[in-house]
Amino acid sequence: MHLTLIRNADLYAPEPLGVQQLLLGGGKVLWIGRDLAAMPAALPVDAIDLEGRRLIPGLIDGHVHVTGGGGEDGFGSRVPAPMLSRYTRAGVTSVVGLLGTDDVARSTRELVASIHALREQGLNAWGYSGGYHLPPTTLTGSVRGDIVFVDALIGVGEIAISDHRSSQPTLDELLRLASEVHVAGLMTGKAGIVHLHLGDGPRGLELVRQALDQSELPARVFNPTHVNRRKALFTEAVDLARRGCSIDITAFPVEEGEDAWSAADALTRYFDSGAPPAHVTISSDAGGCLPCFDGDGRVCGMAVGESGALLATLNELLARGMALAQALPAFTSNPARLLRFPGKGRIKVGADADLVALDADGAASDVFIAGVAHVRAGALQRRGIFEG
Ligand SMILES: [Zn+2]
Repeated sequence: MHLTLIRNADLYAPEPLGVQQLLLGGGKVLWIGRDLAAMPAALPVDAIDLEGRRLIPGLIDGHVHVTGGGGEDGFGSRVPAPMLSRYTRAGVTSVVGLLGTDDVARSTRELVASIHALREQGLNAWGYSGGYHLPPTTLTGSVRGDIVFVDALIGVGEIAISDHRSSQPTLDELLRLASEVHVAGLMTGKAGIVHLHLGDGPRGLELVRQALDQSELPARVFNPTHVNRRKALFTEAVDLARRGCSIDITAFPVEEGEDAWSAADALTRYFDSGAPPAHVTISSDAGGCLPCFDGDGRVCGMAVGESGALLATLNELLARGMALAQALPAFTSNPARLLRFPGKGRIKVGADADLVALDADGAASDVFIAGVAHVRAGALQRRGIFEG
Protein backbone atom coordinates (compact mmCIF):
# COMPACT_ATOMS: atom_id res chain seq x y z
CA MET A 1 0.00 0.00 0.00
CA HIS A 2 1.28 3.48 -0.89
CA LEU A 3 1.19 5.69 2.19
CA THR A 4 1.18 9.48 2.42
CA LEU A 5 2.24 11.26 5.56
CA ILE A 6 0.96 14.83 6.01
CA ARG A 7 3.00 16.64 8.61
CA ASN A 8 2.26 19.78 10.60
CA ALA A 9 -1.32 20.33 9.45
CA ASP A 10 -3.41 22.89 11.35
CA LEU A 11 -6.41 20.59 11.29
CA TYR A 12 -10.06 21.65 11.00
CA ALA A 13 -12.23 18.54 11.00
CA PRO A 14 -14.30 20.95 10.72
CA GLU A 15 -13.78 21.56 14.48
CA PRO A 16 -10.30 22.92 15.24
CA LEU A 17 -7.89 20.17 16.38
CA GLY A 18 -4.60 22.09 16.31
CA VAL A 19 -1.40 20.94 14.64
CA GLN A 20 -1.60 17.24 13.74
CA GLN A 21 0.13 14.61 11.65
CA LEU A 22 -2.00 12.42 9.35
CA LEU A 23 -1.28 9.12 7.65
CA LEU A 24 -3.25 8.37 4.45
CA GLY A 25 -3.49 5.01 2.71
CA GLY A 26 -5.97 3.00 0.67
CA GLY A 27 -7.94 6.18 -0.01
CA LYS A 28 -8.64 6.70 3.72
CA VAL A 29 -7.31 8.60 6.70
CA LEU A 30 -5.54 5.80 8.62
CA TRP A 31 -4.17 7.69 11.59
CA ILE A 32 -4.18 11.18 13.14
CA GLY A 33 -1.89 12.16 16.01
CA ARG A 34 0.22 14.95 17.45
CA ASP A 35 3.46 13.00 17.58
CA LEU A 36 4.89 11.38 14.54
CA ALA A 37 5.30 7.64 14.90
CA ALA A 38 8.47 6.19 13.40
CA MET A 39 7.70 4.61 10.04
CA PRO A 40 9.29 1.25 9.18
CA ALA A 41 11.93 2.06 6.55
CA ALA A 42 10.59 -0.64 4.22
CA LEU A 43 7.25 1.18 3.77
CA PRO A 44 6.91 3.46 0.71
CA VAL A 45 5.91 6.71 2.43
CA ASP A 46 5.45 10.01 0.63
CA ALA A 47 5.86 12.84 3.18
CA ILE A 48 4.43 16.34 2.82
CA ASP A 49 5.14 19.09 5.34
CA LEU A 50 2.33 21.66 5.44
CA GLU A 51 4.35 23.87 7.82
CA GLY A 52 1.25 24.78 9.82
CA ARG A 53 -1.07 25.46 6.91
CA ARG A 54 -4.78 24.87 7.56
CA LEU A 55 -6.10 21.47 6.46
CA ILE A 56 -9.87 21.18 5.88
CA PRO A 57 -12.21 18.51 4.46
CA GLY A 58 -12.55 18.58 0.67
CA LEU A 59 -15.42 20.86 -0.37
CA ILE A 60 -18.67 19.24 -1.52
CA ASP A 61 -20.28 21.25 -4.33
CA GLY A 62 -23.88 20.09 -4.33
CA HIS A 63 -25.09 21.93 -7.44
CA VAL A 64 -22.90 21.60 -10.52
CA HIS A 65 -23.77 21.51 -14.21
CA VAL A 66 -21.17 18.83 -14.99
CA THR A 67 -22.41 18.58 -18.59
CA GLY A 68 -22.36 22.38 -18.89
CA GLY A 69 -25.71 24.17 -18.49
CA GLY A 70 -27.20 27.16 -20.21
CA GLY A 71 -29.09 27.15 -23.50
CA GLU A 72 -31.53 29.93 -22.57
CA ASP A 73 -30.34 32.18 -25.40
CA GLY A 74 -30.06 29.79 -28.33
CA PHE A 75 -27.86 26.75 -28.90
CA GLY A 76 -24.79 28.97 -28.93
CA SER A 77 -25.42 29.73 -25.25
CA ARG A 78 -24.94 26.09 -24.18
CA VAL A 79 -22.11 26.25 -21.63
CA PRO A 80 -19.20 23.80 -22.19
CA ALA A 81 -18.60 21.18 -19.49
CA PRO A 82 -16.03 22.33 -16.90
CA MET A 83 -12.81 20.31 -16.95
CA LEU A 84 -11.35 18.46 -13.97
CA SER A 85 -9.00 21.14 -12.67
CA ARG A 86 -11.82 23.74 -12.53
CA TYR A 87 -13.01 21.71 -9.54
CA THR A 88 -9.78 20.47 -7.99
CA ARG A 89 -7.94 23.80 -8.05
CA ALA A 90 -10.97 25.24 -6.24
CA GLY A 91 -10.66 22.68 -3.44
CA VAL A 92 -13.79 20.83 -4.57
CA THR A 93 -13.38 17.06 -4.16
CA SER A 94 -17.04 15.97 -4.58
CA VAL A 95 -19.74 17.25 -6.92
CA VAL A 96 -23.42 16.59 -7.49
CA GLY A 97 -24.23 17.07 -11.17
CA LEU A 98 -27.61 18.07 -12.59
CA LEU A 99 -29.53 19.28 -15.60
CA GLY A 100 -31.24 22.67 -15.56
CA THR A 101 -33.30 24.64 -18.07
CA ASP A 102 -32.09 22.48 -20.92
CA ASP A 103 -33.28 18.98 -20.12
CA VAL A 104 -34.26 18.28 -23.73
CA ALA A 105 -31.07 18.79 -25.77
CA ARG A 106 -29.23 17.49 -22.71
CA SER A 107 -30.25 14.17 -21.19
CA THR A 108 -29.86 12.01 -18.11
CA ARG A 109 -27.68 9.73 -20.26
CA GLU A 110 -25.27 12.58 -20.95
CA LEU A 111 -25.33 13.52 -17.26
CA VAL A 112 -24.50 9.98 -16.10
CA ALA A 113 -21.72 9.75 -18.73
CA SER A 114 -20.26 13.07 -17.50
CA ILE A 115 -20.38 11.85 -13.88
CA HIS A 116 -18.51 8.67 -14.81
CA ALA A 117 -15.98 10.68 -16.83
CA LEU A 118 -15.21 12.76 -13.73
CA ARG A 119 -14.99 9.63 -11.58
CA GLU A 120 -12.50 8.08 -14.03
CA GLN A 121 -10.38 11.23 -13.64
CA GLY A 122 -10.43 10.91 -9.85
CA LEU A 123 -13.20 13.27 -8.71
CA ASN A 124 -16.07 12.08 -6.49
CA ALA A 125 -19.23 12.64 -8.51
CA TRP A 126 -22.96 11.89 -8.29
CA GLY A 127 -26.05 13.42 -9.84
CA TYR A 128 -29.77 14.01 -9.85
CA SER A 129 -32.37 12.47 -12.11
CA GLY A 130 -34.61 15.02 -13.87
CA GLY A 131 -34.04 18.70 -14.66
CA TYR A 132 -36.19 21.84 -14.49
CA HIS A 133 -39.30 20.28 -15.92
CA LEU A 134 -42.16 17.83 -15.34
CA PRO A 135 -42.55 15.11 -16.33
CA PRO A 136 -38.88 14.71 -15.40
CA THR A 137 -36.30 13.53 -17.89
CA THR A 138 -34.97 10.14 -16.74
CA LEU A 139 -32.77 7.24 -17.77
CA THR A 140 -34.99 4.29 -16.82
CA GLY A 141 -38.44 5.84 -17.35
CA SER A 142 -39.02 6.88 -13.72
CA VAL A 143 -37.21 8.91 -11.11
CA ARG A 144 -37.66 6.05 -8.64
CA GLY A 145 -36.12 3.59 -11.10
CA ASP A 146 -33.20 5.95 -11.79
CA ILE A 147 -32.34 6.25 -8.10
CA VAL A 148 -32.85 2.55 -7.33
CA PHE A 149 -30.96 1.19 -10.35
CA VAL A 150 -28.42 3.84 -11.40
CA ASP A 151 -25.52 3.97 -8.95
CA ALA A 152 -24.65 7.63 -9.61
CA LEU A 153 -28.17 9.10 -9.23
CA ILE A 154 -29.16 10.04 -5.67
CA GLY A 155 -32.25 12.27 -5.94
CA VAL A 156 -34.14 14.50 -8.38
CA GLY A 157 -33.33 18.03 -9.45
CA GLU A 158 -33.10 20.79 -10.14
CA ILE A 159 -36.92 20.94 -10.36
CA ALA A 160 -37.87 24.56 -11.06
CA ILE A 161 -40.59 26.37 -9.08
CA SER A 162 -41.59 30.05 -8.92
CA ASP A 163 -39.78 30.62 -12.21
CA HIS A 164 -40.98 31.52 -15.72
CA ARG A 165 -38.85 28.65 -17.04
CA SER A 166 -40.55 26.06 -14.79
CA SER A 167 -43.30 23.59 -15.73
CA GLN A 168 -45.56 25.45 -13.27
CA PRO A 169 -45.85 22.27 -11.18
CA THR A 170 -48.94 21.82 -8.99
CA LEU A 171 -48.84 20.71 -5.37
CA ASP A 172 -50.05 17.22 -6.31
CA GLU A 173 -47.30 16.89 -8.94
CA LEU A 174 -44.62 17.97 -6.47
CA LEU A 175 -45.92 15.57 -3.80
CA ARG A 176 -46.02 12.63 -6.23
CA LEU A 177 -42.43 13.31 -7.27
CA ALA A 178 -41.24 13.77 -3.68
CA SER A 179 -42.88 10.51 -2.63
CA GLU A 180 -41.02 8.61 -5.38
CA VAL A 181 -37.70 10.13 -4.36
CA HIS A 182 -38.26 9.55 -0.65
CA VAL A 183 -39.08 5.86 -1.15
CA ALA A 184 -36.13 5.39 -3.52
CA GLY A 185 -33.90 6.96 -0.87
CA LEU A 186 -35.22 4.51 1.73
CA MET A 187 -34.60 1.56 -0.59
CA THR A 188 -31.02 2.52 -1.40
CA GLY A 189 -29.65 4.61 1.48
CA LYS A 190 -29.11 7.43 -1.03
CA ALA A 191 -30.04 11.08 -0.40
CA GLY A 192 -33.63 10.74 -1.69
CA ILE A 193 -34.27 14.48 -1.94
CA VAL A 194 -36.00 16.89 -4.31
CA HIS A 195 -33.45 19.60 -5.09
CA LEU A 196 -35.64 22.59 -5.98
CA HIS A 197 -34.49 25.47 -8.19
CA LEU A 198 -36.14 28.66 -6.91
CA GLY A 199 -36.76 31.42 -9.44
CA ASP A 200 -37.50 35.09 -8.85
CA GLY A 201 -41.28 34.60 -8.72
CA PRO A 202 -43.24 36.12 -5.84
CA ARG A 203 -44.79 32.72 -4.98
CA GLY A 204 -41.39 31.87 -3.48
CA LEU A 205 -41.56 28.77 -1.29
CA GLU A 206 -45.36 28.65 -0.94
CA LEU A 207 -45.51 25.26 -2.70
CA VAL A 208 -43.00 23.74 -0.28
CA ARG A 209 -44.90 25.08 2.74
CA GLN A 210 -48.07 23.50 1.38
CA ALA A 211 -46.22 20.22 0.81
CA LEU A 212 -45.06 20.18 4.44
CA ASP A 213 -48.53 21.14 5.72
CA GLN A 214 -50.46 18.60 3.65
CA SER A 215 -48.31 15.45 3.44
CA GLU A 216 -46.53 12.92 5.64
CA LEU A 217 -43.22 13.44 3.83
CA PRO A 218 -40.27 14.43 6.06
CA ALA A 219 -39.12 18.02 5.62
CA ARG A 220 -35.59 16.86 4.67
CA VAL A 221 -36.96 15.61 1.32
CA PHE A 222 -37.46 19.22 0.14
CA ASN A 223 -34.14 20.97 -0.55
CA PRO A 224 -34.57 24.46 -2.06
CA THR A 225 -31.58 26.14 -3.72
CA HIS A 226 -30.78 29.70 -4.93
CA VAL A 227 -32.67 30.86 -1.81
CA ASN A 228 -30.51 34.01 -1.50
CA ARG A 229 -31.53 35.35 -4.93
CA ARG A 230 -34.22 37.57 -3.33
CA LYS A 231 -34.08 38.93 0.21
CA ALA A 232 -37.72 38.04 1.00
CA LEU A 233 -37.19 34.54 -0.40
CA PHE A 234 -34.25 34.05 1.94
CA THR A 235 -36.43 34.94 4.95
CA GLU A 236 -38.94 32.28 3.81
CA ALA A 237 -36.12 29.75 3.41
CA VAL A 238 -34.79 30.33 6.93
CA ASP A 239 -38.29 29.56 8.26
CA LEU A 240 -38.28 26.29 6.28
CA ALA A 241 -34.87 25.40 7.74
CA ARG A 242 -36.46 25.72 11.18
CA ARG A 243 -39.11 23.22 10.04
CA GLY A 244 -36.42 20.68 9.07
CA CYS A 245 -35.56 21.44 5.43
CA SER A 246 -31.94 21.94 4.43
CA ILE A 247 -31.62 25.11 2.38
CA ASP A 248 -28.90 25.72 -0.21
CA ILE A 249 -27.31 29.12 -0.76
CA THR A 250 -25.81 29.83 -4.20
CA ALA A 251 -22.42 31.58 -4.36
CA PHE A 252 -23.34 33.76 -7.34
CA PRO A 253 -22.09 37.31 -7.87
CA VAL A 254 -24.36 39.96 -6.33
CA GLU A 255 -24.26 43.58 -7.50
CA GLU A 256 -24.38 46.55 -5.16
CA GLY A 257 -28.01 47.47 -4.47
CA GLU A 258 -29.42 44.22 -5.92
CA ASP A 259 -32.38 42.60 -4.13
CA ALA A 260 -30.27 39.53 -3.24
CA TRP A 261 -27.85 38.42 -0.54
CA SER A 262 -24.33 37.34 -1.44
CA ALA A 263 -23.53 33.86 -0.14
CA ALA A 264 -21.39 35.36 2.64
CA ASP A 265 -24.20 37.76 3.64
CA ALA A 266 -26.73 34.94 3.54
CA LEU A 267 -24.72 32.53 5.72
CA THR A 268 -24.02 35.29 8.24
CA ARG A 269 -27.72 36.15 8.39
CA TYR A 270 -28.59 32.48 8.66
CA PHE A 271 -26.45 32.05 11.76
CA ASP A 272 -27.75 35.34 13.22
CA SER A 273 -31.34 34.03 12.81
CA GLY A 274 -30.66 31.16 15.21
CA ALA A 275 -31.89 28.54 12.66
CA PRO A 276 -30.26 25.08 13.01
CA PRO A 277 -26.59 25.40 11.90
CA ALA A 278 -26.72 21.94 10.27
CA HIS A 279 -29.57 22.87 7.88
CA VAL A 280 -27.64 25.12 5.51
CA THR A 281 -25.29 24.39 2.59
CA ILE A 282 -23.54 26.50 -0.05
CA SER A 283 -23.07 25.45 -3.68
CA SER A 284 -21.60 27.16 -6.73
CA ASP A 285 -23.86 26.47 -9.76
CA ALA A 286 -20.58 25.75 -11.58
CA GLY A 287 -20.96 25.24 -15.32
CA GLY A 288 -24.41 26.82 -15.22
CA CYS A 289 -25.21 30.08 -16.91
CA LEU A 290 -26.37 32.83 -14.62
CA PRO A 291 -28.70 34.78 -16.92
CA CYS A 292 -30.71 37.88 -16.21
CA PHE A 293 -34.03 38.40 -18.00
CA ASP A 294 -35.99 41.44 -19.13
CA GLY A 295 -39.74 41.89 -18.54
CA ASP A 296 -40.55 39.80 -21.62
CA GLY A 297 -38.50 36.86 -20.32
CA ARG A 298 -35.65 37.42 -22.77
CA VAL A 299 -32.01 37.05 -21.76
CA CYS A 300 -30.30 40.42 -21.24
CA GLY A 301 -26.98 39.19 -19.80
CA MET A 302 -25.19 36.03 -18.79
CA ALA A 303 -22.29 34.84 -16.64
CA VAL A 304 -21.06 31.31 -15.88
CA GLY A 305 -20.91 29.76 -12.39
CA GLU A 306 -17.55 28.60 -11.05
CA SER A 307 -16.63 26.17 -8.26
CA GLY A 308 -14.03 28.75 -7.20
CA ALA A 309 -16.91 30.80 -5.79
CA LEU A 310 -16.98 28.43 -2.78
CA LEU A 311 -13.46 29.20 -1.53
CA ALA A 312 -14.00 32.87 -2.38
CA THR A 313 -17.09 32.85 -0.14
CA LEU A 314 -15.26 31.00 2.63
CA ASN A 315 -12.43 33.54 2.55
CA GLU A 316 -14.89 36.43 2.57
CA LEU A 317 -16.53 34.97 5.69
CA LEU A 318 -13.13 34.64 7.38
CA ALA A 319 -12.21 38.20 6.41
CA ARG A 320 -15.40 39.38 8.16
CA GLY A 321 -14.31 37.61 11.31
CA MET A 322 -16.29 34.35 11.18
CA ALA A 323 -14.36 31.41 12.65
CA LEU A 324 -13.26 28.79 10.10
CA ALA A 325 -14.87 26.04 12.22
CA GLN A 326 -18.22 27.87 12.09
CA ALA A 327 -18.15 28.53 8.35
CA LEU A 328 -16.82 25.15 7.17
CA PRO A 329 -19.81 22.84 7.82
CA ALA A 330 -21.93 24.58 5.13
CA PHE A 331 -19.33 23.49 2.55
CA THR A 332 -18.42 20.08 4.02
CA SER A 333 -20.18 18.18 6.82
CA ASN A 334 -23.67 19.64 6.21
CA PRO A 335 -23.89 18.59 2.53
CA ALA A 336 -22.33 15.21 3.42
CA ARG A 337 -25.09 14.57 5.96
CA LEU A 338 -27.93 15.73 3.69
CA LEU A 339 -26.62 13.82 0.68
CA ARG A 340 -25.86 10.72 2.77
CA PHE A 341 -22.19 10.55 1.79
CA PRO A 342 -20.70 8.54 4.66
CA GLY A 343 -16.97 9.10 5.01
CA LYS A 344 -17.13 12.57 3.48
CA GLY A 345 -17.27 16.11 4.83
CA ARG A 346 -15.24 15.39 7.99
CA ILE A 347 -11.60 14.54 8.70
CA LYS A 348 -11.30 11.58 11.08
CA VAL A 349 -9.73 8.16 11.17
CA GLY A 350 -11.55 5.90 8.70
CA ALA A 351 -12.95 8.80 6.64
CA ASP A 352 -12.15 9.21 2.95
CA ALA A 353 -8.87 11.05 2.43
CA ASP A 354 -10.47 14.06 0.64
CA LEU A 355 -8.43 16.93 2.02
CA VAL A 356 -7.58 20.52 1.14
CA ALA A 357 -4.72 22.59 2.53
CA LEU A 358 -5.18 26.36 2.44
CA ASP A 359 -2.29 28.77 1.95
CA ALA A 360 -2.05 32.14 3.71
CA ASP A 361 -4.23 33.74 0.99
CA GLY A 362 -6.92 31.09 1.38
CA ALA A 363 -6.18 29.36 -1.95
CA ALA A 364 -6.09 25.56 -2.19
CA SER A 365 -2.35 24.81 -2.04
CA ASP A 366 -2.74 21.03 -1.74
CA VAL A 367 -5.74 18.92 -2.71
CA PHE A 368 -6.08 15.19 -2.11
CA ILE A 369 -8.95 13.04 -3.34
CA ALA A 370 -9.01 9.51 -1.91
CA GLY A 371 -5.42 10.19 -0.83
CA VAL A 372 -4.27 11.03 -4.38
CA ALA A 373 -2.62 14.44 -4.80
CA HIS A 374 -4.38 16.55 -7.45
CA VAL A 375 -2.72 19.83 -6.40
CA ARG A 376 0.52 20.02 -4.47
CA ALA A 377 2.29 23.16 -3.26
CA GLY A 378 0.04 25.14 -5.61
CA ALA A 379 0.97 23.07 -8.67
CA LEU A 380 -1.53 20.95 -10.56
CA GLN A 381 -0.53 17.27 -10.41
CA ARG A 382 -3.39 15.78 -12.43
CA ARG A 383 -5.06 17.32 -15.45
CA GLY A 384 -8.30 16.37 -17.11
CA ILE A 385 -7.91 14.24 -20.22
CA PHE A 386 -8.40 17.21 -22.56
CA GLU A 387 -6.57 19.79 -20.47
CA GLY A 388 -3.25 19.36 -22.27
ZN1 LIG B 1 -30.95 26.58 -10.85
